[in-house]
Amino acid sequence: MNYKESMLFSIMNNKCPQCHKGNFWETSNPYDLKRFSRMNTRCPVCNEDFKREPGYYFGATYVSYGLTVAFGIAMYVILAGFFDIGTVPFLIIFSVSLIILMPVFYRSARLIWINMFVTFKKTN
Ligand SMILES: [Zn+2]
Repeated sequence: MNYKESMLFSIMNNKCPQCHKGNFWETSNPYDLKRFSRMNTRCPVCNEDFKREPGYYFGATYVSYGLTVAFGIAMYVILAGFFDIGTVPFLIIFSVSLIILMPVFYRSARLIWINMFVTFKKTN
């Protein structure tokens, strides 16, 4: 399996989990703050249903939590381990980073979630 067929490709490039061609989000720019949270209802290429069922993306909140914890641990190891930074400065830097990265985490969590249930099907 090459990168273009992997889940990572779909997650990192805003692509449909089934065909890896159509866009999942309306805009590929997570910092287009007016539109970053707008999903396409269906894949414009293969017609995969992105909305699925009511509450489907509730599970993405657990993914988002996992991403946040992993990011927090990584930041702590880097900042406290290599730069010997104190707890309060760490919490300030971590909080500001989370706010700045919120659109990225929000979108990644949903893409990871749908990729857990929809598998890639090769099309031409
Ligand atoms: Zn598709």
